[in-house]
Amino acid sequence: MRRVYLDHNATTPMRKEVIDEMLPYFDRIYANPETLHSFGQEAAEALSAARRKVAKLINCASNEVYFTSGGSEANNMFIKGVAFRRLDKKGHIITSAIEHSAVLSVVRFLVDEFGFEATYIEPDRNGIISPTEFEKAIKHDSFIASIMYVNNEVGTIQPIEEMAKIAHEHNILFHSDTVQAFGKLPVDVGKLGVDAASASAHKFYGPKGVGFLYLRNGTRITPLIHGGGHERSRRAGTHNVPGIVGLAKALELGYAELEDEEKRLRRLSNLLVDKITDRIPDVYLNGDREKAVANTVSLSFRGVEGESVLLALDMKGIAVTTGSACASKSLKISHVLKAMKTEPILAAGTIRFSLGHQTTEDDINYTVDALAEIIPRLRKISAL
Ligand SMILES: *Cc1c(COP(=O)(O)O)cnc(C)c1O
Repeated sequence: MRRVYLDHNATTPMRKEVIDEMLPYFDRIYANPETLHSFGQEAAEALSAARRKVAKLINCASNEVYFTSGGSEANNMFIKGVAFRRLDKKGHIITSAIEHSAVLSVVRFLVDEFGFEATYIEPDRNGIISPTEFEKAIKHDSFIASIMYVNNEVGTIQPIEEMAKIAHEHNILFHSDTVQAFGKLPVDVGKLGVDAASASAHKFYGPKGVGFLYLRNGTRITPLIHGGGHERSRRAGTHNVPGIVGLAKALELGYAELEDEEKRLRRLSNLLVDKITDRIPDVYLNGDREKAVANTVSLSFRGVEGESVLLALDMKGIAVTTGSACASKSLKISHVLKAMKTEPILAAGTIRFSLGHQTTEDDINYTVDALAEIIPRLRKISAL
């Protein structure tokens, strides 16, 4: 059976070039990079080369890159790391209602367990956070803000640069979960003006279980993981050398192919939207195609349940998701669509298509044909 993977915002397959780059570090250059012998130094050199590569691509200094186990850890590392320095005086945290759970749950934890206060800024109906709303959320004791760059469910791009500027005018540290932006936008942490940013390799064709936190020099955090002096004593644990080498290679490919891939995916995702809306009535687009990354399309099909569509597409070898991967295991409506004030009946019939490096025009046509058969059939039998 034909297999069409349209779930790249959940995870991506590793690029062949990335796997090849990693292989020597499993069995040939395996020594601990912290060790002083030449075996270890060879691994240490690969580690610093990867760090330099990442720093150059995202436009920061090498010592501002902290390797982690992924995006969730990077978000936790910064938000908790800053909050834990203020356990005596607490304070107010600003975030948005459309963040990934790897930010929302951290903030909720700090509020529920430690007595911090938080504001969750609502987006507009298109899923964009306005800098004006951001400024309005600021209180006298606000000390940190975390707003994602690209939303994982609807693909919208947030005006991070403006918000980081406003935050700094009020002495507030600004973090961005930039996990979904890498490989899709030319992320430049200097230009964005953020104090911290999170990344995860498996979202840009690298290995799972590795990511990084960009942390501006001079920004103080309490480490989450204590142990040896790794990562400038801010994140203990023997380095995942193959993973880090793979991350750097994947990021390099991502930046090199950014423009061509943007154009190609923009054309394919426009084709997907046009063909679906041409052939199927009562379909609504979530988000803002003008202010969104090219690969992500979120569509609501009136009168069907997203889960039924997902399963019917799966029978035809097509992988998509309803809302986000985390929301998809429960029947709850996605918090992102809810915050965008999507009609509940439409939110329940929402499918996210996220295209990627291997997606072809044939894949799009095959998916549209499948939907044109599935949607009317499900509409006839649906309780909605
Ligand atoms: C996937 C994702 C994360 C979590 O990254 P992991 O490396 O899987 O922990 C965080 N934020 C966003 C926006 C994501 O899409």
